Amino acid sequence: MSQTVLVTGATGFIAQHVVNELLKNGYTVIGTARSETKSQPLIKLFKEKYPNGNLSFVIVEDISTESAFDDVLINNKSITNVIHTASPFSYGIDKSLEDAYLNPAVNGTLNILNAIYKYAPQVKNVIITSSFAALKQYGNEYTTHIHTNESWNPINWENDVKTENDGYSASKTYAEKAARNFMIQQDPKPNFKLTTVNPPYVFGPQCFDDYVSNKLNTSNEVLNNITKIDPSNNEPQVVFGALAIDVRDVAKFHVLPLSNENLQSERIFLTSGPVTAQNVLNIMNESCDPLKGKIAIGDPSKTNEIIEKNCPKYDLSNLKSIVGDYEFINLEKSIVDVFDQYYKVNSV
Ligand code: NDP
Repeated sequence: MSQTVLVTGATGFIAQHVVNELLKNGYTVIGTARSETKSQPLIKLFKEKYPNGNLSFVIVEDISTESAFDDVLINNKSITNVIHTASPFSYGIDKSLEDAYLNPAVNGTLNILNAIYKYAPQVKNVIITSSFAALKQYGNEYTTHIHTNESWNPINWENDVKTENDGYSASKTYAEKAARNFMIQQDPKPNFKLTTVNPPYVFGPQCFDDYVSNKLNTSNEVLNNITKIDPSNNEPQVVFGALAIDVRDVAKFHVLPLSNENLQSERIFLTSGPVTAQNVLNIMNESCDPLKGKIAIGDPSKTNEIIEKNCPKYDLSNLKSIVGDYEFINLEKSIVDVFDQYYKVNSV
């Protein structure tokens, strides 16, 4: 009999790819969604793609409400694995930073862990979508520190959080810490292993074309904004320095720990490499037919210098020691696939 996996926030950008990966590999999936209006179209699309796939949804309107997941775990004793992706990741939320980011991220994480601990002793694995935000450093250290799976963001809510971006980064840091402390503090110890996946900026196509409109999800919209830089601009493009990963690899690394014991309990930090406005423009100008000649060029000759000065350094040797030389989808393919899909749906 196939194993059953609960995926929280299953209507989200990354989660849809996680569900896809699970169904492709024969798992039974129960997703949570805020409403039937959100879950119904997805059930239909996955049914068309996997006619024999086993996908159902339960409604959890707000992960931060006390005991939000209790009924789900009480009523579904077949669940043996949980993938918790739900957490706020959009900007412009009309609430205090605490209510928009911190409380849902931390309370949602503790609610799912408590529900499993109390009502689902059969659960063996919990995978939480954390973030590079939970390990990145600040100031000079952002570009000099060698980020590894052991790095921790030093952000302090009271002293350091001024912007939405700080609020989001702190929410991911505090939520992951809360989860790791939960594992240490419970007595008796939980039956499950806790693994986190810590991706940086996640790019790549939506799982289904139906989810593409002229505005993309938060992370892909960064690429869309780069297309809007003044086309006559031939200055080196330094506004954005970060790391990238493709959504299809992120999905794989949420599912692999279910079958690969060596990944269980790990902190899976993964990246395909640096991303700046300049290397994004280079790729768009070379490889995205609908954009060529219509967008800025910047100064491609300065690309390496821009990356060196603005992007974080990193070391993935821990992950490599477990999975060997896994070949991540590169930034070029992520970007080309995003815009192929974008211009299939939106006219040029
Ligand atoms: P999405 O916004 O597409 O997905 C987030 C999901 O969580 C949505 O289904 C959303 O539902 C749900 N959700 C958020 N808040 C609540 C709440 N209070 N109650 C119930 N459901 C809620 O974002 P992504 O797919 O990009 O992000 C998924 C996860 O990955 C998040 O944990 C994010 O922090 C993490 N991550 C994302 C990265 C990226 O670059 N995309 C990078 C690193 C980590 P609804 O849409 O209905 O509000």
